[in-house]
Amino acid sequence: MVELESKNMEFDLMVRMGVYRIQPDDSAERTIQAAKTAYLYTRNPSAGNVVWFSEDMIQISIHDQEVTGKFNQALKKNEFEVFYQPKVDIQSGKLTSAEALCRWIRDGQVVPPMDFIPTLEKEGSICNLDFYMLNKVCEHINEWKSCGIEPVKISVNFSRVHILNKKLAEKIIKLISNHKVEYQYIEIEITEMSGYEDFESLSEFVDTMKEYGIETSLDDFGTGYSSLNLLKDLRVDTVKIDKSFLQKIDSDSEDDQEKSMLRNIINMVNEMNMKVVAEGVETPMQREFLREVNCQVAQGFLFDKPLPKEEFELRLQGTREY
Ligand code: C2E
Ligand code: MG
Ligand code: MG
Repeated sequence: MVELESKNMEFDLMVRMGVYRIQPDDSAERTIQAAKTAYLYTRNPSAGNVVWFSEDMIQISIHDQEVTGKFNQALKKNEFEVFYQPKVDIQSGKLTSAEALCRWIRDGQVVPPMDFIPTLEKEGSICNLDFYMLNKVCEHINEWKSCGIEPVKISVNFSRVHILNKKLAEKIIKLISNHKVEYQYIEIEITEMSGYEDFESLSEFVDTMKEYGIETSLDDFGTGYSSLNLLKDLRVDTVKIDKSFLQKIDSDSEDDQEKSMLRNIINMVNEMNMKVVAEGVETPMQREFLREVNCQVAQGFLFDKPLPKEEFELRLQGTREY
């Protein structure tokens, strides 16, 4: 038993529960397993502290076990590859930068990130994958430079699972400088945060990156809970507007509320002297709209899909106008 030194100590207690409604034929094993499966879901930041069991959780947990079981071996066997998706200056049509996106090449098939990243985020291995990606990107930048290809700034996604780790900035800087890659070639993309505690850590991280000249961007802006007020206090260089905004504006209607919202967000970010990137541009009409509302940079299938390294090299070498 632990004896407490002071009776005036304060504790914050947090209770998390997985709940299962017992059926007449259930064994004790099934009951415990179901409640435990639901309980594991409470680790997911968006799930809440009380989670009710549902049958599809069993399928998901089988999938999770499969992914985590294979992940470490796959990392050792270099089964993860960096794909690069160009970002384009939509006023000039020139390539400005690119985003590094992870693909798992498993048994000759390309597995998209949504099939494994949520699992890796749940159990923490995402941190290893993100550093693996940053490491590969640094290797590629050096390779390009050594054969006379001028790289562009490459953004690497870092899951917000890292953000509470105080050593994150230090580890990133160390890795980049070990490769002797100039900081101007790297940008770190972090998804919007969900709570104030995250915000403080994110803000500290962004400031440290800034001191070293490494740019940061806030990914998927508009999908999380961050208020505009928080954005004002965060010194990120770039705001990436989530693709769900653009998907809704592909119509001729002039008085569309979605258009007005997007126009105002872009204005606001421009006025705050941050850069703005629109994600998910798929049609010429969307590009035209973005030009009109002074959005400088865009990324989307209209310009290029995420490309394997060899194909992206052709973009770096070429003079393609988008
Ligand atoms: P994200 O960082 O927001 O990346 C943009 C996603 O939008 C990519 O999906 C990209 O393929 C997709 N996209 C680009 N243009 C278009 C378009 O015009 N239309 C549509 N519908 N989609 C478009 P992807 O590659 O499947 O990646 C999904 C998410 O997985 C990423 O979203 C990012 O959150 C995560 N992710 C990918 N690679 C990594 C990684 O190395 N580390 C971490 N932590 N997350 C990663
Ligand atoms: Mg991203
Ligand atoms: Mg995004």
